[in-house]
Amino acid sequence: MAGMESAVPPSPPPVQPVPAPSATPATPACERCLALAADPRRREPPSCLALRGTVPLVSQSAAGVPFSMLTFACRDCGTVWRLYDRANELFVSWVPERPLVR
Ligand SMILES: [Zn+2]
Repeated sequence: MAGMESAVPPSPPPVQPVPAPSATPATPACERCLALAADPRRREPPSCLALRGTVPLVSQSAAGVPFSMLTFACRDCGTVWRLYDRANELFVSWVPERPLVR
């Protein structure tokens, strides 16, 4: 009587299709961010911007002018803004982290 060979080769685990990390479609900038881009020297942040962190980054420009930088993120469209405030300058400048998408 031959022994019943019932060794079943382990089946490979089912292959899970890994969704390709599709490039995140750029979120169009909201109205307020577009307005801020059109007027980047105003001091007050639009109401949609939330301050990230509380400590401004203080540094110096290449010309030796000290400035501070705060980072904001828009609650509506996710745009990240940097607010540069240079010493002895009346105006600030808002610079988006990446170009705005309309
Ligand atoms: Zn926005």
